[in-house]
Amino acid sequence: MNPFHYVRASDTPSAIRALTEQAAPARFLAGGTNLIDLMREGIDRPRAIVDITRLPLVGIDELPDGGVRIGAMVRNSHLAADRTIRERYPLLSQAILNGASAQLRNMATTGGNLMQRTRCYYFHDSAARCNKREPGSGCDAMDGFNRIHAILGASSHCIATHPSDMCVALAALDATVNVAGPSGTRTLALRDFHRLPGDTPEVDTNLQAGELITSVDLPGSSARLPSMYRKVRDRASYAFALVSVAAALRVENGVVRDVRLALGGVAHKPWRATTAEAVLLDHAPTPDAFVRAAEEELAAAVPRARNGFKIALAKRVIVATLSELAAGGAL
Ligand code: SF4
Repeated sequence: MNPFHYVRASDTPSAIRALTEQAAPARFLAGGTNLIDLMREGIDRPRAIVDITRLPLVGIDELPDGGVRIGAMVRNSHLAADRTIRERYPLLSQAILNGASAQLRNMATTGGNLMQRTRCYYFHDSAARCNKREPGSGCDAMDGFNRIHAILGASSHCIATHPSDMCVALAALDATVNVAGPSGTRTLALRDFHRLPGDTPEVDTNLQAGELITSVDLPGSSARLPSMYRKVRDRASYAFALVSVAAALRVENGVVRDVRLALGGVAHKPWRATTAEAVLLDHAPTPDAFVRAAEEELAAAVPRARNGFKIALAKRVIVATLSELAAGGAL
């Protein structure tokens, strides 16, 4: 591991100040479940670390609209087990419990989950060409072993996927992300927080330099929706999604009045399936409608040599999840 300067911050302003004062590149350290691995592998070589584990961002607080504000330092295991979350947003709890292992969830934080980097094999192999790790060097995944890679929203520069389960649920729930930085505070929609790779795959998010996630808000309008998270992976635990679906469906008088659908394991960011949602909204929740919605959402999918199976898989998981929800199988 390379030598680096270490600073421990006690509050948000001092953390932001410390990061901007350090020599670049500098990183915030929260649970460390991703950053420390990247540093050990020599993939990330920060010159300074600002430890934010003592920041008082650990609340799960009710909002006036019936929503909930989740502090950035709330641990994943704590969040999944929280009674308010389980009652109002079971989709989020279910998605978190589908991710990583119990030990990792005990360490990983809400903010850190949003910031985790791709698990593309070539990104983690310093001998491989990778535009995300070294812009302009090429991408060995394009013609390599690309079974886990993206089928939606990829570019000729990068076909990596975002690894989070939690963020797929947050996308479906219309979460927003509160950040603080040298220029003040602002709020981003979760859907706009992560980026597609385009020609700058080295940039994962729309955070500005020095900005720190302080909390994530869940709106009251997303509470208590019949919902379900379904994840397909190579083994039953401690594996990233080949395809996952976060879905919520409210049917009134035989018509879909609210539908939320987001996909994981298929794109550089949690993929909100707005095309499928538009097909379903204000229509009867029939098997044919679910198939049509899945077909239209995946119409833009582009397979690589080894990941074409994800297109059929994504369609099937969408249809199966919506069918189960329509039959009353929600959490
Ligand atoms: Fe790097 Fe992206 Fe190519 Fe993977 S897919 S090797 S992360 S550029």
